Amino acid sequence: MKRVHNFSAGPAALPTEVLEQAQSELLDYHGTGRSIMEMSHRGPEYTQVNEQAKERLARILNLGDDFEILFLQGGASLQFLQVAMNFLNKGESADYINTGTWSQKAIKEAKMFGNVHIPFSSEATNFNRIPADKELSLSDGANFVHFTSNNTIYGTQFPKEPETNGIPLVCDASSDFLSRPIDIRKYGLIYAGAQKNLGPSGVAVVIIEKGFLSRIKKTNIPTLLDYRTHTKKLFHTPATFTVYLVNLVLKWIEDQGGISHFEKVNNKKANLLYNTIDADDFYRGTAETDSRSKMNVTFRLPSEELESQFLKKAEENDLIALKGYRTVGGIRASIYNACSLENVKALVNFMEKFRAENG
Ligand code: PMP
Repeated sequence: MKRVHNFSAGPAALPTEVLEQAQSELLDYHGTGRSIMEMSHRGPEYTQVNEQAKERLARILNLGDDFEILFLQGGASLQFLQVAMNFLNKGESADYINTGTWSQKAIKEAKMFGNVHIPFSSEATNFNRIPADKELSLSDGANFVHFTSNNTIYGTQFPKEPETNGIPLVCDASSDFLSRPIDIRKYGLIYAGAQKNLGPSGVAVVIIEKGFLSRIKKTNIPTLLDYRTHTKKLFHTPATFTVYLVNLVLKWIEDQGGISHFEKVNNKKANLLYNTIDADDFYRGTAETDSRSKMNVTFRLPSEELESQFLKKAEENDLIALKGYRTVGGIRASIYNACSLENVKALVNFMEKFRAENG
């Protein structure tokens, strides 16, 4: 068996230990003679998985009883609309910071439900940066401020939460969830598709502060899309195997030392790559230095031809999935929690060699 150095932006690499545990439990889950996929979502085994996953997540993020944790289907994309459907009404407004394609998709959905004000956009510079707090022109009376904490495509990341003067944040944290500490008190709601830092595709984790949740007053939200439906009990069949794997990933995160451990390793990995990029002008980072992402490192080479060669040679060396997003091109190394320091060192060695041969 061989495992490659996987830099996929998502669905992304999973910890080998997690896959091994899933493999060992696949045919006979805890002596039940069947897999976790083949049993009721209301039975004792899956109930334990679901509860454990929530407990672990609450411990990892230091969440008190004042937060609801939901595992919903429909990915982060459904959250674009579900957030607005629940928290934005006709005549009301919300602020949406526009730092890239995923922000734009959230904005498009929100406009169907209420007024959307854009306090900042980096579209004019091809989304190469994150705003400083003083650049945000927040509106009066917004229900919430929505931001994309890490911009998977453009390789930018908020260095910290934007300052909103007490207006609750709603965050799409799909591509940096659990990669570093956050100031949870500032958030009304956080959502993240699982398939980057948390598990396989199939669920979005949604964390909602109960006071924020209680602001939902509408009575005409379709049942499945009403967050309140999911806070009471399992309303319908969840993506059981995905949540099972998410639970294993959360265990792995705790075993490794929690968020503070990953923050340190993620800083090291990102520094290694950016130092290699900055060593001379062969590689060129696409994001402004103080907006650089520690999850998706995006860069260009002197020509598209060299980029093609780089990708081909990288693959020959088992360095996989380094092609930039289809609309922007270039190179993107996605280095989420499950991408190890060794994986990144292998990439850095390759980059240095490639530069020596082609620079
Ligand atoms: N938000 C961000 C930041 C993303 O990176 C992605 C997927 N790459 C999405 C949202 C969309 O997620 P999904 O495919 O789960 O709907």
